[in-house]
Amino acid sequence: MSSTLHDISSELDAIRAQSLWKLERPILGRQSAHIRVNSGEVLNFCANNYLGLADHPDLVKAAHEALDTHGLGMASVRFICGTSDLHLALERRLADYLGLDDSILFAACFDANGAVFEPLFGEQDAIVSDALNHASIIDGIRLSKARRLRFANGDMNELEAQLRAAREGGARRIVIVTDGVFSMDGYFAKLAEIRALADRFDALVMVDDCHATGFIGPEGRGTPQRAGVKADILTGTLGKALGGSAGGYIAASQPIVDLMRQRARPYLFSNALPPPIVAAGIKAIDMAERGDDLRAKLSDNARRFRAGMGAAGFTLLPGEHPIIPVMLGEAKLAQDMAAKLYDKGVYVTGFFFPVVPRGQARIRTQMSAAHSPQDIDTAIAAFTAAGRELGVI
Ligand SMILES: *Cc1c(COP(=O)(O)O)cnc(C)c1O
Repeated sequence: MSSTLHDISSELDAIRAQSLWKLERPILGRQSAHIRVNSGEVLNFCANNYLGLADHPDLVKAAHEALDTHGLGMASVRFICGTSDLHLALERRLADYLGLDDSILFAACFDANGAVFEPLFGEQDAIVSDALNHASIIDGIRLSKARRLRFANGDMNELEAQLRAAREGGARRIVIVTDGVFSMDGYFAKLAEIRALADRFDALVMVDDCHATGFIGPEGRGTPQRAGVKADILTGTLGKALGGSAGGYIAASQPIVDLMRQRARPYLFSNALPPPIVAAGIKAIDMAERGDDLRAKLSDNARRFRAGMGAAGFTLLPGEHPIIPVMLGEAKLAQDMAAKLYDKGVYVTGFFFPVVPRGQARIRTQMSAAHSPQDIDTAIAAFTAAGRELGVI
C-alpha cells in the first residue's frame, strides 16, 4: 500500500479508537415514523421529517405528475437551458411564503450557504457569525474575503462588541449570520435582539432557517416571523420539514437575489433541481401553510416526550423545539445507548465530538407529526429500559 493510503488507514483507526466512528444503517423503503430496516421494523426518532411529509401521498403524487410532464431533469444549469416553469413557480411560492421579494433555488441549502457570502461581502466588509452556526455557513464564510468576526452562541454582549469592532474597523457592509434554530440543541436564535443590534449598527441579518421553515412561527413561516422581525436574507432547505427531498434556497430582497443569479457559483456551475422535486416542493409549501393540524400534533408530541423523559429522570436540554437532546456525556455512552435503543426497536443516533463539544455527547431525538402518542410512549419506555441497563437513570 502506498504511504498515503497507509496514513489514511491510520487516521481511520484513530477515529474508531476514539469511539467517533459514524455508522450508517440502511432503511429499506420509505422515510417515515415507522421504517423498515434489516432487522425488521423500528420507530424513527432521528429524521428531520418534522411535518411527516417525506412519504406523504400528495407530495409523491405531485412528483409523479411532474415526472410525466417535465421528465427527470434539465441536463443544464439554470442560465443556459435549465430553467423550467416549475422552478419559477417554486421560487415565487417560497418568496411569498417567507415574506421576501424573491428567492433562488440551489441543489441544497449547503450550496445556498456556500453561495451567499462571496458575491455580497468582499474585503471591505465584515461577517459577524454565531459560533454554533452550521458547517455550511462556516464554509461559505471562508469563501468570501470579508473580515470574519465570531460571537459565542447567543451572546448578545459579544455580538454587540463585534459589531462595534466591525464599524470601528471601517467596514462597508456588515452582516450578522445565525441559524434560526441551533440544530444540536434545539435552541432558538434571539432574533428580536439581533435585529435591534443590526439596526443600531446598520447591519444586515441573515438567518438559516433549515430547522424551522414549515413548522415554526405563524403558518410555519419560520423564526423571523415567530420573533416578529424581518431577516434580510433567509436560507433554507426542502430536505427537512418541506418534504424531505432535496434542494435549498436563498430568499431576500430583489437586488440580492438578482446578484445571486449573476454571481453565485454553486448556482451558475451546477445542474438545475429535478422538476419532480420542485413540484413536490410547491406542494409541500401548500401543505405547510395550511398545516396547523400537523404543527399541533408536532408540538403535542414534543411536549409529551419532554414530560415523559423528564419524569423518567433523563437530562434534556430545555426548550420547545421538536429537537429534544438527551444528554449523556461521553461519546461511547451515547453510542451504546443508541445501539441498545435500536435493539429495542427505536432508531436514534448518538451525536458526539466534533459535531458537539467533547463531554457533551447526546442522543438528539426529533419528533414528527407522523408519530402517534403511542409511538412517543413506546420511545419513552425504550429509553427508560435502556437508560436503566446502562446506569444512566
Ligand atoms: C440541514 C442543514 C443545512 C443543509 O441543508 P441541505 O439542504 O441538506 O444541504 C444547512 N443549514 C442548516 C442549519 C441545516 O440544519
